[in-house]
Amino acid sequence: MLDSNCIFCKIIQREIPSFKLIETDHSYSFLDISPISVGHSLVIPKYHAQKLHEIPDEYLTDLMVTVKKVALKLKVENYNILQNNGELAGQEVNHVHFHIIPKTDDGSGLSYKFKHLEEDSFNLDEIQSSFNR
Ligand code: AMP
Ligand code: ZN
Repeated sequence: MLDSNCIFCKIIQREIPSFKLIETDHSYSFLDISPISVGHSLVIPKYHAQKLHEIPDEYLTDLMVTVKKVALKLKVENYNILQNNGELAGQEVNHVHFHIIPKTDDGSGLSYKFKHLEEDSFNLDEIQSSFNR
């Protein structure tokens, strides 16, 4: 369930210190050590897996409830939830984690812009068909 070589598993087991926020039977949340805005927090399952689809449902349910509780306690009106899966997608720590990133008008927080594909470079019918196959 936990991996002795994983930095976030070590945090759950108190082998590495962290600024804990909320802990439940299935989740642990703490402040990001290198925040991109004040209050930037992480919520992780007490189950080691790299990607979201590898996490058992009972952990996922609790994770989302904990994300909501952290957002409420931070009292932020604007925030982004970020959850990276895989190196290409920007994942650096290979233990599933949700970022809760407050967004304020001082410019700190998550900055991104969707770069939409050209209309002739995809076919929604085809994607839907292969999804249902
Ligand atoms: P990601 O790029 O989605 O894998 O993000 C990993 C996040 O974990 C980064 O925002 C790091 O600042 C954060 N992080 C790494 N090590 C620690 C740690 N020991 N305590 C708290 N946050 C950490
Ligand atoms: Zn882990």
